[in-house]
Amino acid sequence: MTTLTPILTKNWDEADSFTRAGYERGGGYQAVRTALGMNPDDIIQAVKDSGLRGRGGAGFPTGMKWGFIPQGDGKPHYLVVNADESEPGTCKDIPLMMANPHALVEGVIITSFAIRANHAFIYVRGEVLHVIRRLQAAIAEAYEAGYLGANILGSGYDLELTLHTGAGAYICGEETALLDSLEGYRGQPRLKPPFPAVAGLYAAPTVINNVESIASVPSIIGNGAEWFASMGTEKSKGFGIFSLSGHVTRPGQYEAPLGITLRELLEMAGGMRNGKRLKFWTPGGSSTPIFTEEHLDVPLDFESVGAAGSMLGTRALQIFDESTCVVRAVLRWTEFYAHESCGKCTPCREGTYWLKQVLARLEKGQGTEEDLGTITDIADNILGRSFCALGDGATSPITSSVQYFRDEYLKHFEIGGCPFDPAASTLWA
Ligand code: NAD
Ligand code: SF4
Repeated sequence: MTTLTPILTKNWDEADSFTRAGYERGGGYQAVRTALGMNPDDIIQAVKDSGLRGRGGAGFPTGMKWGFIPQGDGKPHYLVVNADESEPGTCKDIPLMMANPHALVEGVIITSFAIRANHAFIYVRGEVLHVIRRLQAAIAEAYEAGYLGANILGSGYDLELTLHTGAGAYICGEETALLDSLEGYRGQPRLKPPFPAVAGLYAAPTVINNVESIASVPSIIGNGAEWFASMGTEKSKGFGIFSLSGHVTRPGQYEAPLGITLRELLEMAGGMRNGKRLKFWTPGGSSTPIFTEEHLDVPLDFESVGAAGSMLGTRALQIFDESTCVVRAVLRWTEFYAHESCGKCTPCREGTYWLKQVLARLEKGQGTEEDLGTITDIADNILGRSFCALGDGATSPITSSVQYFRDEYLKHFEIGGCPFDPAASTLWA
């Protein structure tokens, strides 16, 4: 039985966990002292050795990404933290920044020092005013204590940290759209390559990492790469925050080694709510193909989830019980993608609109079997033909739900309506 590994979440229950004093009492800001005495290249090597992979969803090796930044070029480099968490079901970075903002600030300092950046940015969702205020307070405290600004802790290293708020567009979580938005333009994805590590913010080499990735760095420097690599699986090292939501007895964030299973997490979370049966779930937010009861024992690491036909993504485990209409859930997600499509490319802009229209008809029981073919055909024409991952992600719930629940789609037009009583489902209450 895998157990929890509270590291980033260890002080969340303490009343002052978000203050500098609370963070320092638990050993906070020790790793930055160690890091400032190290050669920046050795910090990058330590993160490479730890095996840390991006916690924003894609799982790209973090140390390798840092290693792409050209060194000794004498040009500005930037660190940008992607705090625009908005993938449906994903709710790990926001509580992390609320309860433990100094872990992020400390990670920012260590990372910026490693990649030789003197200016870092945190790009945070505009709607989360409480998080913005919390981060502003933490950054101010870090400046007061000499962790930010000129000559940090007498090391000769200077770093400015700017908090920038977005305006609530899901697409601005896509790293290059985020950069456009940060530069003051409308947020739309840029062509890659060049990747941001080569030409990012203001066309300068830029590391963009997710909040949880950066907040994990102090623990790696403080405890060593081997400590981190001793957790998780062979290729998916370390720990991560798993967010359980939906029809589960105790929803919330569970920090555990990668490779834990949903069965184990559900046991820790008190099982399914009201003793109902699990019907389907997402391993990593709605952009990842859904799983069913048969996937309860799939280890939640990048490789195993991929081999089982989905993606680990953001570890946003949205749990749906037997009272849920899968067509309705998929329609709801598709409405989200159609609304959030930035409109830059035709397959996603037009495709998500038509998916929404046809799914709405199917859900009301007014569709035909041909409509089922139409949604899979539209999904086929979006997948791999869209400019960024949003379009691909929008097809995941559709194709996977048709794969596992084709009969439920058929049932809708057989009976001319939804076979589920929405009033009986607590999900939509
Ligand atoms: P990606 O695989 O294209 O890139 C991942 C990271 O690796 C990026 O930072 C990219 O710049 C870097 N990279 C990849 N190849 C590189 C190369 N050859 N050289 C240099 N750098 C390279 O994935 P993506 O489009 O950035 O992200 C997709 C993921 O985002 C999805 O898996 C999804 O889970 C996740 N997502 C998260 C949220 C959220 O709220 N956290 C929202 C939507 C999507
Ligand atoms: Fe915009 Fe969608 Fe195209 Fe991405 S896939 S660029 S969100 S229209």
